[in-house]
Amino acid sequence: MKQAFADKVLTWFDVFGRHDLPWQKSLTPYPVWISEIMLQQTQVQTVIPYFNRFMARFPSVKALARADLDEVLSLWTGLGYYARARNLHKTANIISEFHQGEFPRSQQDLLQLPGIGRSTAGAISAICFNERVAILDGNVKRVISRVFAIGGYPGQRETAEQLWAKAEAVLPHDRINAYTQAMMDLGATVCVGKAPLCGACPVNEACLALERQSISDYPGKKPKVSKPTRSTIMLVVKTQAGEIRLAQRPPEGIWGGLYSFPELTQEELDALTPHLPSPPRALAQLKHSFTHFHLLIEPILVEIDAIGDIPRIDREAWVSEDNSEAFGLCRPAQKIIQTLLG
Ligand code: SF4
Repeated sequence: MKQAFADKVLTWFDVFGRHDLPWQKSLTPYPVWISEIMLQQTQVQTVIPYFNRFMARFPSVKALARADLDEVLSLWTGLGYYARARNLHKTANIISEFHQGEFPRSQQDLLQLPGIGRSTAGAISAICFNERVAILDGNVKRVISRVFAIGGYPGQRETAEQLWAKAEAVLPHDRINAYTQAMMDLGATVCVGKAPLCGACPVNEACLALERQSISDYPGKKPKVSKPTRSTIMLVVKTQAGEIRLAQRPPEGIWGGLYSFPELTQEELDALTPHLPSPPRALAQLKHSFTHFHLLIEPILVEIDAIGDIPRIDREAWVSEDNSEAFGLCRPAQKIIQTLLG
């Protein structure tokens, strides 16, 4: 069963696998790492333009290490989960400074770097260095849980351990690099979330979920927990010339290092209102969901004649139509600016 499973996957990959994704041009650690990080939580088609822009601007790990974090974040705007971009920058610096610009070659060593988990470390070491280790990204989890009917939510430790054990048990002895890509491709193109193409699947004869007609049970769903809703007011100041004031957030925490608007409580806004150059005006509310809570945002617009008409704030910057690409913006700030600048 063990060799048969991997053989079938590899034979399928040779004919039907994806061989022309931008990060497959050279299977070296830097592009593989960047693509793996971008592909966490994000679809391939969305990632491709981001990946191409990122590689054009930072073609090597050393170029990324030398870059300003602000610029890295600005190229990440829209991909979300900004901790990923901050960790990329940190890791690039560690590799440049302590590893002479060369990536560690084993999964164990790669795991020591910020933002690189077991599956990403496995993908880099298997694809680039042929290390015989498993990966378990979202696509592979789906395939393994269905073929072997491993129930339970993969975010729970016990289920994750079963999935890892099975993923390791079916590893081939040769062509680990191709096998790793093959498993990702199988999950991304055949064993997709809804309506998998079981007729075209190389392992359909062995698939327990298919045999039991219970594909939709795998992988198990995340147990539902209701998230609390918090609310905040964002103060948006705009000049006659169309410049909008931003404030850079502290480096750590939510939207760390990104540009947003100063946040206020209702009491703070009430106290500030008599001192504002014009009456504040409410814009349409926005809702932004984080992993653990929802944030209800009430943007308040204050229009002024020119930049000097309002006292300066810490870490302020002014964005306009001409320079909006230059800032790493959190998603709500991006939406508010789009509304105001059209
Ligand atoms: S047979 Fe269907 S459910 Fe089973 S692994 Fe293949 S595509 Fe996925």
